[in-house]
Amino acid sequence: MKFQILTLFPELFPGPLGHSITGRALNNNLWSLNAINIRDFATDKHKTVDDVPFGGGAGMVMKPDVIERALLSFPEQGRRVYMSPRGTPLTQNLVKELSKESTLTILCGRYEGVDQRVLDAYGFEEISIGDYVLTGGEMAAHILIDATVRLIPDVLGNETTTDEESFSNGLLEYPHYTRPANWTDASGQDHPVPEILTSGHHGKIGKWRQDQSLELTRNRRPDLLSDK
Ligand code: SAM
Repeated sequence: MKFQILTLFPELFPGPLGHSITGRALNNNLWSLNAINIRDFATDKHKTVDDVPFGGGAGMVMKPDVIERALLSFPEQGRRVYMSPRGTPLTQNLVKELSKESTLTILCGRYEGVDQRVLDAYGFEEISIGDYVLTGGEMAAHILIDATVRLIPDVLGNETTTDEESFSNGLLEYPHYTRPANWTDASGQDHPVPEILTSGHHGKIGKWRQDQSLELTRNRRPDLLSDK
């Protein structure tokens, strides 16, 4: 899968994506990344990428002509995404859908955002990573790419399975425990793992996990259950 990034800070890529599972998958060519600097497509001697908003108001707006030139420098753009707090919320279902694309071109905004005309003219789909405002779209793009790349076949290998993960079946995942079976904390308090997990009875463990998932979801994210 190919990711093409339009940004004023290409040096932020791959950043955290160059490490661990996503980094290994990048080295193994399971996905690729090409981040270009929008400023390289400014034509005036000051390399201007933004201007004041029509109608007044605070902040600057990224210029449509410069973004267009940067965008069209990619001969093939695939699905065009603009990271934006106004966008469709990024969910695991949307991530699954994105992971089936062969090419994603991601526009990262800065300042007050991007001139609406270039978004409309090129059919950018706006995607938000949550109801808060970041200073720029780059970290939002990292999040979208990380969540998407791990669903590309062969990226996770046997290290983990996504089948039971939070959101994959509309529920939050059950709690995990590892050795020691009884952990004694610094104050001397014992914390044994739930007994069922050491019983070796896979059927009962499966049922316990399912119940835990349901209870957690009911307590923390009842909205997920009402979606069902
Ligand atoms: N004026 C915009 C608004 O109120 O909707 C916010 C602009 S923000 C300071 C600058 C850039 O950060 C945006 O153009 C967008 O690319 C990115 N950004 C900020 N918050 C985001 C979020 N929640 N999800 C995705 N991208 C975000």
